[in-house]
Amino acid sequence: MTRRPFTDWHTHIYLPEHCGPVWTRRGLELVGKEAFGVATPEAHIQAMDEAGASHFAVVGLQIAMMGMHIPNDFIGTYLHAHKDRAIGVGSVDPTQAGAPQRLRDAVKEWGLSGVKISPPYQGFHPHSEEAYAIYRTAADLGIFVMFHQASVFAPDGHLEVASPSLIDKVAREFRGTKFLLAHFGKPWMNELVELMMKNPNVYADVSTLPIKTWQLYTGLRLAIEGRVTGRLLYGSDFPSFTPRQDIEAFLAISDLKMPLPIPREVVEDILYNRPFELLVQK
Ligand SMILES: [Zn+2]
Repeated sequence: MTRRPFTDWHTHIYLPEHCGPVWTRRGLELVGKEAFGVATPEAHIQAMDEAGASHFAVVGLQIAMMGMHIPNDFIGTYLHAHKDRAIGVGSVDPTQAGAPQRLRDAVKEWGLSGVKISPPYQGFHPHSEEAYAIYRTAADLGIFVMFHQASVFAPDGHLEVASPSLIDKVAREFRGTKFLLAHFGKPWMNELVELMMKNPNVYADVSTLPIKTWQLYTGLRLAIEGRVTGRLLYGSDFPSFTPRQDIEAFLAISDLKMPLPIPREVVEDILYNRPFELLVQK
């Protein structure tokens, strides 16, 4: 099979000491791999090369209440080693004092293109003042905001602030900023598609859904009917999944024998035609 170049919009790098006890233990409990797998820079670039990923976004995460802290310097250093094919998405925890300034410093130092935050993991409301301080900073810096606005595996996570609808107010008030919601907003794909239909500055990635056939199928059907597939992006969520296998599972959703199928050209379009320029001015 000849490989076509594609962009993996959702990948992680981290070391065991970045993960904290919850991430480490839940990985072992849920998938049999501490911290959901080895995500060293060496393992990461090997996985990208094996899959033929021409481009990838490398995403950080900082969660004070879980002791997770992937330093922005770690993301930035890796980004610089792969500048021709990578963008960097840093992270700050909005609940921690000084987060906006740390974001500003990291973006200026490393040329990061986005920031990842997560109301349910980090434990804040998307309409709170601490969250708005991050949105204002992102708008000022011209970077996109990536939300983990979806279900969480952490027992102490806050599902009551995980709903994609909560981002509507944010997308309305920051029209000049682009928002990327991870994991198709699962299990609220219906809500996410409604959010995308009315807000042209909202995007979503499909990471982790290829193993959840029903969620991926219904999500894609909703997106087709809502005419928003052009703003869906492929992501593997490495190291949870390696893109080489994950891509096969993603494309195979079009083989499902259903009265309303997912056309092959829709999944191929999502995989192969989503360059960085959609969210980033380089
Ligand atoms: Zn992720």
